[in-house]
Amino acid sequence: MRIIMLGPPGSGKGTQGELIEKRYEFPRISTGDLLRLAVSERTALGKKAEVQMKRGALVEDEIVLEIVKERIFNDDCRLGYVLDGFPRSISQAQKLEEMDGNRKEIVIEIHLPEEIIVERLSARRTCPQCAAVYSILTTKPKREGICDACGSRLFQREDDQPEVIKERLRVYRQQTEPLIGYYQKKGSFQRVDGSGEIEAVFQNISSLLETEMTEFKEQEARK
Ligand code: AMP
Repeated sequence: MRIIMLGPPGSGKGTQGELIEKRYEFPRISTGDLLRLAVSERTALGKKAEVQMKRGALVEDEIVLEIVKERIFNDDCRLGYVLDGFPRSISQAQKLEEMDGNRKEIVIEIHLPEEIIVERLSARRTCPQCAAVYSILTTKPKREGICDACGSRLFQREDDQPEVIKERLRVYRQQTEPLIGYYQKKGSFQRVDGSGEIEAVFQNISSLLETEMTEFKEQEARK
């Protein structure tokens, strides 16, 4: 099984992906987090990805696919995994199917109007150490500017600055949004409204997933 979280930057894919990970015990794989880690560790892949990431553009398929390939064949992904931020184009979706085609797939699009996205991304603060995410408007840390989980100083991602946000949204519309039609045709597509509270959005997502997940886990247990 794989669950693909689709939606513009700031729609809550990461937050909801983490909740899915906790409830259904499928690891969440965020290509953005993996790329940021590669950049901060100054690996060869990270150095190649850095320029595009700063501009809000997509990193080359070759780099992203290498990262995904390395991750999805780990033992913890045997039963299933949750993809957050991948695929981001039809070509990536096709490559994913070539790489790991024999899985049941559920695609969840988190739908959100653009004004809310800009507001959310501008308010987002991130932990450089453990990748926890906060908002200066809603999910604030207990101590201003400090990560609740590990005590590191929070920062604003360079690509959460207004000009880069605009570019990321443009890239989303142009390259990622066509995936909606692609997955609708495949028949695995579900849409949820992402504008509510985190718990309410998750409630909707889990009610979509519940039957399929229960059936899937029962089948696996019988094997
Ligand atoms: P995210 O944290 O998902 O918003 O990703 C941050 C940045 O990482 C994006 O703006 C891209 O530059 C890069 N990135 C993440 N996932 C992908 C992907 N699947 N394909 C290409 N670039 C990606």
